[in-house]
Amino acid sequence: MSESKYQLVLGFETHIELSTNSKMFCGCPADHFGKVPNSQTCPVCLGLPGALPVPNSSAIEWCIKLGLALGCKINLFSKFDRKNYFYPDLPKGYQISQYDQPFCYEGQLTLSSGKIIRITRVHMEEDTGKLQHAEVDGKKVTLVDFNRSGVPLVEIVTEPDFSNPDEAIEFLKEVQLIVRYLGISSADMEKGSMRLEANISVRPIGQKDLPKFKIEVKNVNSFRFIKKAIEFEFDRQVAMLNSGKTPVQETRGFNEDKGETFSQRSKEDAHDYRYFPEPDIPPLRFSNEQVDEWRNSLPKLPGQIRGDLISRGVSQEKALILVSDPDKLHMITKLVQKDIELTKAVDMIINSPSDISGDLDKIILWAKQKETISVSTSELTEVVAKLIAANPKAVLDYKAGKEQSLFFLVGLIKRQLGNIDISLVRRAILDLIK
Ligand code: ZN
Ligand code: MN
Repeated sequence: MSESKYQLVLGFETHIELSTNSKMFCGCPADHFGKVPNSQTCPVCLGLPGALPVPNSSAIEWCIKLGLALGCKINLFSKFDRKNYFYPDLPKGYQISQYDQPFCYEGQLTLSSGKIIRITRVHMEEDTGKLQHAEVDGKKVTLVDFNRSGVPLVEIVTEPDFSNPDEAIEFLKEVQLIVRYLGISSADMEKGSMRLEANISVRPIGQKDLPKFKIEVKNVNSFRFIKKAIEFEFDRQVAMLNSGKTPVQETRGFNEDKGETFSQRSKEDAHDYRYFPEPDIPPLRFSNEQVDEWRNSLPKLPGQIRGDLISRGVSQEKALILVSDPDKLHMITKLVQKDIELTKAVDMIINSPSDISGDLDKIILWAKQKETISVSTSELTEVVAKLIAANPKAVLDYKAGKEQSLFFLVGLIKRQLGNIDISLVRRAILDLIK
């Protein structure tokens, strides 16, 4: 991003597809990836007349648990609403979502710098179908696959609190990790089970008010590209403002080859969607006891684990690596159970060669060998020098051709230094004798 008198204003909407068994409002399987098109549909998720939605209670529970993990308050009274718009992948002509009573609101996540990112809300909705552009009998056509229609989707909305793309990426990676710790989604960006929308604008440094315009960049499916898209947008908007123009409120895509965003359509305001309460689903009520039960059932989250590690002497950098690798964490726990000190166990797991990284016994052996070697160099040379000086006869014998004398010297050194690599000792002795 170029230097300028403007600062970035950046917030995110993140969609997470839940990996429940069934869809949000019907019994069709929710796992749609790679399935025969339209093989997992029914009257409800095809939006046929007369079909009635029945909410998936696991999906609701998972959405609320995610909200709790993100420090949200929970609405004890909540409801679904219809978000009305037409698009061929939306068979009912509306999406069942949540408008003014989302399940979760006012959460927050703290970045490693200590900066707090406010989370506006975490709500539940349903996914749309998928359009596929293809050629059939020489004609360009668009096909619709409704396998994804009605899959449970959680939307996490943040306040525009990010000052730069790196903060955003740290936040998004943490959300991805939390979702995976909760076991509620693969949160795989390439497969589309985690999808990002960045709301990007700029304002003069020092201005408190938000800009009057907001550009939404959609369909960016990697952290690397989202960073590029933000940087490109910042420069584009600053250039426009510098030449006296105001960027228009719109939705833009991202061209990965060019590294540029491009205009897709003008952006709707919330009132354009004519939200109203979903009449086919009664409002939902939760008790404080229920919410407490969900809160208490949360697993240890990445932030807590990292905090534990750091408070026990592990560096922040290493804690970061470990928390995103549950297998490594598990092995460290096992080493600690074997009475190996935590910081030592961490180093063993992080530094062990990749070809033995899954094998605890081999790692322990490797660490032992490494320890013996670490005694060597200067310390070894010193010990050997003293020993040779104290045993001139053995040296003379060896020089006269008595191999045995060398073993004798090696044995003395082993007795003094303990478990040590014999070939290193031999070399040290021979170097000094010559
Ligand atoms: Zn269905
Ligand atoms: Mn949404």
